[in-house]
Amino acid sequence: MKVLLNDEILERNEAKVDIEDRGYQFGDGVYEVVNIYDGVPFTLKEHIARLYRSAKEIGILLNEQPEQLCNRLLELIKANNMTNGGLYLQISRGVFNRTHHYDQTLTPQLVAYPLPYKSVQDAQTNGVEAITAEDLRWLRCDIKSLNLLYNIMVKQKASEAGAFESILIRDGIVTEGSSSNIFIVKDGILRTHPANNLILNGITRRKLLEIMDANGWDYKIQPFHKEELMEADEVFLTSTTSEVMPIIKIDGVTFSQAKPGPYTSKFQAAFREAVKSETKTTTEKA
Ligand SMILES: *Cc1c(COP(=O)(O)O)cnc(C)c1O
Repeated sequence: MKVLLNDEILERNEAKVDIEDRGYQFGDGVYEVVNIYDGVPFTLKEHIARLYRSAKEIGILLNEQPEQLCNRLLELIKANNMTNGGLYLQISRGVFNRTHHYDQTLTPQLVAYPLPYKSVQDAQTNGVEAITAEDLRWLRCDIKSLNLLYNIMVKQKASEAGAFESILIRDGIVTEGSSSNIFIVKDGILRTHPANNLILNGITRRKLLEIMDANGWDYKIQPFHKEELMEADEVFLTSTTSEVMPIIKIDGVTFSQAKPGPYTSKFQAAFREAVKSETKTTTEKA
């Protein structure tokens, strides 16, 4: 496997990072996961724009233009002959002797590498289970930070319960999943939490809402309570790797005949179409 370390493409075992990289001690950095379909990174520009925003919010200033970074990522995809799978990339603040505060002149460190393809087909067809957990994260969940400690803790809890995801609840309100955004459908209307500081504004979430707009389908950007989650007609999550993923059971309670509902299926199909048309036009342009 070939990896990108700053501006060099190297074999994985040649890529060395400093033990005093602040990403390692403090999780002081930001990241993205991009999906690759037939060799084309889906919504790469949007992911890189979000990476730059996250970096800016924590005071990491990137000198390089987003387009240049995109080009190097495309080279990495080529170097690995990637067709399907994910692309992981992170930027840490840089290397410094271990103190909480830092020097403004540090050079941010970039690492990017391919993630293996994992089919979500069966899960998308059959639906997955989720559990609920208290949202005990900080109040800047809009930053895609390397600090994922609480997200890890609740994902592990889900995994040990045989579930796919933990749905986080803050003050009785459903915020998002540990690594996904949560949607409900009630009486034909889709609902999801507003993109404020309490959630990470998913690219998949945004894409789905764009699709809703384009089709004139009704939705509400409005917080909802745990009770509304449990009484919803349909529930699903979105993320880069899961796309539109039906949730058919929460905390052991089964929804709608234990299979993905009609709205969720419709959104799934529309999302797949969007992926197809976007990756196709990108290939034609190239
Ligand atoms: C990455 C992430 C998401 C999903 O975002 P996508 O851009 O759709 O992959 C949702 N919530 C959290 C906490 C995340 O880290």
